[in-house]
Amino acid sequence: MVPDGTFTLTSGTPESRQPRRDRDGAVCLDIDIDGDGVIRRVSLADTTSPMDGLTLIAMNGRQVWPGFVDAHAHIDKCHTWGRAPNPDGTLLGARAAAKRDRLETWHYDEVYRRMDFALRTAFAHGTIAVRTHLDSQEGRTEPCLSAFLALRSDWASRVVLQGTLTLGAAKLAGPWGDSVADWAAENGLRLGPVVYDGPEGKALLDRAFDLAETRGLELDFHVDETDDAAADGLTRIADTVLARGFNGRVLCSHACSLARRTEAQAERTIAKVHAAGIGIVSLPMTNLYLQDRNPISTPRWRGITLLRELKRAGVAVALAGDNVRDAFHPYGDHDLVDVFRDAVRLGHLDLPIGDWPRAVTSTPAGMLGLAGRSCIAAGARADLVIFEGRDYTEVLARHGRGRIVIRAGRGISPELPDYRELD
Ligand SMILES: [Zn+2]
Repeated sequence: MVPDGTFTLTSGTPESRQPRRDRDGAVCLDIDIDGDGVIRRVSLADTTSPMDGLTLIAMNGRQVWPGFVDAHAHIDKCHTWGRAPNPDGTLLGARAAAKRDRLETWHYDEVYRRMDFALRTAFAHGTIAVRTHLDSQEGRTEPCLSAFLALRSDWASRVVLQGTLTLGAAKLAGPWGDSVADWAAENGLRLGPVVYDGPEGKALLDRAFDLAETRGLELDFHVDETDDAAADGLTRIADTVLARGFNGRVLCSHACSLARRTEAQAERTIAKVHAAGIGIVSLPMTNLYLQDRNPISTPRWRGITLLRELKRAGVAVALAGDNVRDAFHPYGDHDLVDVFRDAVRLGHLDLPIGDWPRAVTSTPAGMLGLAGRSCIAAGARADLVIFEGRDYTEVLARHGRGRIVIRAGRGISPELPDYRELD
C-alpha cells in the first residue's frame, strides 16, 4: 500500500482494473526492483507478473513510502537540552540558552559528534536528504560551518546534506552580510534570513534579495514565528519576489502568524505566496512547543500555519523536523514520521490523509532541488521505507515497530545510535 501522490505508474502497464485504494487514498501496487537497486516498474497490484529474474516478496498489505526528505533542521544545536535547557519554554528563553551553550561548550569535535549523531539517527529512520540551518551571526559561524562541510562529504553516499547560513535579516547589513553571502556562494549553501516584521522590514528584505541576486543564491527564510497577528513578513517576502521578478528558489518556514490573521488577509497572502512560487515549510513540533506558552496557562492555539488552505491554493507545503532535543524543542528524533503524525493530528490532515505524505517526501525533495528522489517510479533508486502497519492508523500508532529501511534495494541496519555516546 503506497501513499497517494508518492508514486508514478509505469506507462504501458495494464491499468484496466480499478486500483485497490483504501479510504485514505493509499494504493495497492507491485514494485519491481532490480539487482542494482533501481525500480524497474510500478504497476497496480496483481496486474503483472514479476519481471524475469526477480523474486516475488509478499508485503501482505504493508505500507511502503519513498525515503524521507527533511527540508528544515538545526543539527548544529541538536542534543544540547541536557546541559542547556530552556528555562521558560519560550523562543527568547531558547535563544539565550543556545547562545550560552555555544559560547561555553561548542568546539569542532563536540559539534561534529552531535551532527553526526543526528544524521545516523535520520538515516536509520529512512531519511535520504536533510537541509540544516547553520547559525551565521558574526563570530558564530565556526566550528559549525567546518563540521558541516566535513559531514556533507563524509555522508554523501548515504544522506544528501544541504546547508543554509541563517541569521537575523538585520545582521545582513554591512560587510558581514557580504561575507555570509560569499561563503554561501563558494560552498553551495543558501542564504537564510530570519525575518521579524517591523517598520524597517522592506529595507532589510531588499538587502537580503540584493545579496542573493548578485550571487545567484536561493533564499531560505524563517518568518513570522509568532502568534502576533500583525506579523506579516510572509506577505512582504511574496511582494518582494513579485516586484523584483526574483527567479531563485524561495522557501519560507514557520509562517505561524498567518493562522492568526483574518480570513481575508490570509486569503490575500496565500494568493501572493502562490503567485510568487514560494514553498512553505511547517515545523509542527517546535511550533506546538514554543507557541502560546506562558508560565501558568494552558495553550489555546496549535501554533501551526494554514497548512490545508495553502495546499488547497496550490502552494508547495512541506513538513519538517526543526529542532531536536535542544532549547527550542526538547523532544523529537530526526524522524519524519513523528513529524507527520503530529501534523496530521494538529492540522486535521485526514479524512482522508490523501497525498499529505508528499509533505515529507516528494514535495520537500522538489524544494531541495532533488526532484525525482523520494518518489516510487521506474528509473528511481529503490530508497524505500516499509512499515509494519497496513493503513495510516496502524502506521502512525506503531510507526517505529518493524520499520524496514531500504536503500538502493537493500535493507540497512536500523540501529539507532545510543544517547550515551553524547555523554
Ligand atoms: Zn528553524
